Amino acid sequence: MHLDTSLESALSTKKEYLKALKEMGLFTVKDLLEYFPRAHEDLSHFKRLYEAKDGETITTKGFFTGIKLSPAKNKRVKLVKAMFYDNAGSACDVVWFNQPHLVRMLPMDTEVIVAGKVRFEYGKITLVSPEVETVKEAQIHVGVHVPIYAQHEVITSKWLRGKIHPLLYLAKEFEEILPPEVVEQENLMGKAEAIREIHFPSSEKSLQRAKDRLGYEELFLLQLNAVQLREEWRKSRAKDSPVKGIPMDPEFVKRFFATLPFTPTGAQKVVIYEILKDMEKPFPMMRLLEGDVGSGKTIVAVMALLQAVHHGYQAAIMAPTEVLARQHLISISRYLEPFSIRVQFLIGSMKAKEKKDALTAIRDGSINLVIGTHALIQEAVEFAKLGLVVIDEQHRFGVKQREVLVRQGSPHVLHMTATPIPRTLALVAYGDQDLSVIAEMPPGRIPIITKIVPPEHRQTVYRFIEGKLQKGEQCYVICPLIDESDVLEVKSAIKEQQDLQAIFPHFKVGLLHGKMKSAEKEAVMQAFKDNQIQILVSTSVIEVGVDVPNATIMLIEGSERFGLSQLHQFRGRVGRGSAQSYCFLYTNSSTELTFARLKAMADYTDGFKLAEIDLQLRGPGEVYGIRQSGIPDLKLANVMNGVLVDRVRKAAEHIVEKLKDYPLLAEALESIRKKMEQE
Ligand code: ADP
Ligand code: MG
Repeated sequence: MHLDTSLESALSTKKEYLKALKEMGLFTVKDLLEYFPRAHEDLSHFKRLYEAKDGETITTKGFFTGIKLSPAKNKRVKLVKAMFYDNAGSACDVVWFNQPHLVRMLPMDTEVIVAGKVRFEYGKITLVSPEVETVKEAQIHVGVHVPIYAQHEVITSKWLRGKIHPLLYLAKEFEEILPPEVVEQENLMGKAEAIREIHFPSSEKSLQRAKDRLGYEELFLLQLNAVQLREEWRKSRAKDSPVKGIPMDPEFVKRFFATLPFTPTGAQKVVIYEILKDMEKPFPMMRLLEGDVGSGKTIVAVMALLQAVHHGYQAAIMAPTEVLARQHLISISRYLEPFSIRVQFLIGSMKAKEKKDALTAIRDGSINLVIGTHALIQEAVEFAKLGLVVIDEQHRFGVKQREVLVRQGSPHVLHMTATPIPRTLALVAYGDQDLSVIAEMPPGRIPIITKIVPPEHRQTVYRFIEGKLQKGEQCYVICPLIDESDVLEVKSAIKEQQDLQAIFPHFKVGLLHGKMKSAEKEAVMQAFKDNQIQILVSTSVIEVGVDVPNATIMLIEGSERFGLSQLHQFRGRVGRGSAQSYCFLYTNSSTELTFARLKAMADYTDGFKLAEIDLQLRGPGEVYGIRQSGIPDLKLANVMNGVLVDRVRKAAEHIVEKLKDYPLLAEALESIRKKMEQE
């Protein structure tokens, strides 16, 4: 038997179980051994019965004597009672509920270990529903640190323990993929030992070392991949490419600043400097600009675009939806007015003739700046001399998209995101990019007042909103997420619109959802901007990318269904004008966790702070949505540990240069890359 032996041949078990294992994504012995427990229960501390305290969970050795099915007061409960003696000779009662098979199965008159909760009643000790295992060479259910696995309908944690333990001798076949120097420097546990210890640890300390070791490997591979991608990108520009470093021109920057209706913030100036300096380099830039909603990323992008165009290059800005692309067209065109720049809008749904003309103008270089959607790199667009691409709302750059850009001469690339990703996580997830952060809001913003609204206060809030609408202000309403079903979501949005129209008969309630045609959406949004619609009901799937300073109220239905980061994004739609804005979080849920999350929204306005809380509560996979964001679902690595993340980064940078010396590592890296490409 080996690691690559199929579970079918390795386990003697029923078809039903094999099917379930497949559903869990477990096919081979290796898969099973890499199915790490989600927690451990420490049942390793033995006690005598006379040492036990009321309510405590104890582990003790001894044997059972009598056992019987006992009549219970409640007829539906099947009560099993037994007598237990520990090795010091003390006796106690033992009870189980609804496990009648124990009468046949419980090992009698053999030495056993039991672990369970102790109850003191009428001067007697009772053990309640203990786990039982006969004394063996190696215990797996009691008497040790017991692994708890994520379960499946038919596959229980107990079942998994029984299957994994006998296969652990194969852990020695796991090859050490980390370079010996890294293992030594970081004082890491060996791979094989870590696999054994993560399942059945010999001590608390050794469990921690196993987690550290496996977490290190997760981080190391990701960082190594990032470092390598970054190297490849830097070397991607061909010698004969028309794109070269673009020198920064301080006079030109001043000229642009002078055209603005406001003074850029310190943070904006810093990131503009970082970006322009980066564009001077002879290799292509790959940078991520992070800045909360409303922090003023647009002028930063415009400065970079202008800088490219000013030096005779073409530039492009790409948004994930047509709605956002159109908004960029409007706001960017305004900033560009003082400069003579020819702008072309490009989206997939354009008429064939229009598109053909656009493509021609882009190819012959008569267009300076293209604003559009993914159509920009998906369609057969050829640029005459593309110097810079700005990509709004980062989607991790797949290897394929990079190839498209390389074919266009490897322009500088700037990603922008309004999702505040803590620096350590950004380094792991987007480690192939340099990072610029705008951590400061333009002055004069009035903080948004956020309130959690339980069902009994709905009416009060509606009356409050009515008062604001009468003053001429406007309101957004976000409908809840419905189990990833677009159809149901649209239905509920339509109903919400009807309900609200009945509650607010004197105002117009509009509707926006993902199933509407682009022209319809456009019309609704324009009407909202023009205040012909006062309340805009919208589903969460569509980008509420409109900038309407007159909208002062954001009402979110079923708010507990959204993550903090998403709620924060919604809230960012208001508070854009000079009036006080409000965010109302409607919820029917009253669990503590929900409340803690929603309360964080009321307590903090800083997106980075909220992102950190969200990460602690839910973990990166949940917070960012693994597939969309490219942020990996790390099983063990602690991405909030900045010191560790930095150390791993350094090690990866050191090793990448001599990757050839570590074929096993190179192979592991290759398979990670393949996995990422598939997503
Ligand atoms: P983002 O794209 O980061 O969400 P925008 O670039 O759309 O933010 O800017 C939000 C608003 O703030 C815009 O109305 C913009 O004109 C304004 N703004 C940007 N920078 C400043 C600044 N330094 N001072 C005052 N207002 C600013
Ligand atoms: Mg923006």
